[in-house]
Amino acid sequence: MGVDVANLHIVSYPAPVLRRRAEAVPAVTEEVRAVARRMIELMFEADGVGLAAPQVGLAWRMFVCHVPESEDPEDERSLTSHPVSATREPMVCVNPTLTHPERDLVAYEEGCLSLPDIRGDVRRPSAITINATGLDGKPFSLRAYGLLARCWQHEFDHLEGVLILDRMTQPSKIKNRQAVRSLEAEARLL
Ligand code: ZN
Repeated sequence: MGVDVANLHIVSYPAPVLRRRAEAVPAVTEEVRAVARRMIELMFEADGVGLAAPQVGLAWRMFVCHVPESEDPEDERSLTSHPVSATREPMVCVNPTLTHPERDLVAYEEGCLSLPDIRGDVRRPSAITINATGLDGKPFSLRAYGLLARCWQHEFDHLEGVLILDRMTQPSKIKNRQAVRSLEAEARLL
């Protein structure tokens, strides 16, 4: 594969990689671990709570996330409750799948590190279960609600080439129309 890890950076819409369906990661190699570490750095630098591999230009089914307890407005005991809604440390999910979405949908304003200046309301199931492989190569399963459940769903969408632009409520789409056009125009100038 030969990824230049040090030069990975966050790509913005409308980069074509953001619209591709990402491919399974065949094995958790040293390179995969190095990419994950770099993605965590980039996520922290950008003040984000999640970052998917396509957002750094790699069409890999992998994302990182970190939802500290203080970020979750819903529950102060989010780390000790079950299911969880926050992470104690950055989490890496390789080849994730999501199952058992809660039936009730909750609207909440989301942003995206690949969509600067765009924020919009997205309705998502309030809780969900993730099955993924960790950086140690071992599979794990975890159920979350609140901001963490939302973060997983947002990042998983990236692996399918789906962006919040596709999922926003109609008023949010209208509100962001100009900002989306600006990003598309900027890209044409590059
Ligand atoms: Zn995003």
